[in-house]
Amino acid sequence: MPGPGEFELIREYFTSRFQTGSRSGTADNGVELGIGDDCALLLPPAGKRLATSVDTLVADVHFPAGGDPYRIASRALRVNLSDLAAMNAEPLWFTLALTLPHSDPAWLEPFARGLAETAHEFGITLVGGDTTKGPLSITIQVTGACARPLRRDGASAGDIIYVSNQLGAAAAALPVVLGEVTVSPRQQQQAETAYYAPEPQFAVARAVEGYASAALDISDGLLADLGHICDASQLGAELNLDQLPVAVLAHSLQADAAVETALTGGDDYQLCFTVPARHRDAVQALQLPITPIGHLSEEPGIRCQWHGKPWQPRGTGYQHF
Ligand SMILES: [Mg+2]
Repeated sequence: MPGPGEFELIREYFTSRFQTGSRSGTADNGVELGIGDDCALLLPPAGKRLATSVDTLVADVHFPAGGDPYRIASRALRVNLSDLAAMNAEPLWFTLALTLPHSDPAWLEPFARGLAETAHEFGITLVGGDTTKGPLSITIQVTGACARPLRRDGASAGDIIYVSNQLGAAAAALPVVLGEVTVSPRQQQQAETAYYAPEPQFAVARAVEGYASAALDISDGLLADLGHICDASQLGAELNLDQLPVAVLAHSLQADAAVETALTGGDDYQLCFTVPARHRDAVQALQLPITPIGHLSEEPGIRCQWHGKPWQPRGTGYQHF
């Protein structure tokens, strides 16, 4: 049982690091009143919509319980930020509900530091939270401001499918992060970065906001998440796997299965978006770290071609239940 005042102590870890808002109401990100009252008081930016999303990460389901608490906190916030990026929303505020088996300062201090440093990096402000005793789990709700949202349901047949950067690194990294395989110190570091520090794709989303017809972040694997765009837009997709940007780490760690990992592995948090063919040249001229990998079609389902032949993956992505 936690001693009296123990969870007040936990609150202190966060309150002291995230003291925002002011009584005059002139604080950053429109925070009139932050942590410490019954509710936060927040001023939405004029003329913009609010985009909001919540995600729960459970120890040993979504992250290794014994992982570095600094990196666990950073990753938890980054995966939520990725949803804002995928919607083309600018980060504003987040709340945290933290369930802990016990209040261990040696865990809480780096966790709070990882959260604070990542929040600072992306310009998002913690405005409230709750702590309870129980099996380790982290729930973060993020809110952002959105002028030109990128939804999943706006695509048309013939639209070109793009992905940002490379795919497969985080899934290839997972056995390393879990300590199931031993690799060189350099690969160990690359694996930990790929898994724990996904980069929300705000810049790519912003750059293509005038061209993209649909977008989402790839959390559960390209095939599964592209399937969501197809379902929402009532379309299918044709992919050319010869063009798939497979991560170097996936090639080096999973030589035989790198393409499969890039297609079906989760946790990369890259952007997948579609662009009408008439915008192809304009998007190409942006010189973004993006690759066209196929196009949407009328026929439901996703079909893959590899070396000019149809190719069928064994799995389609992460299944939650
Ligand atoms: Mg998402």
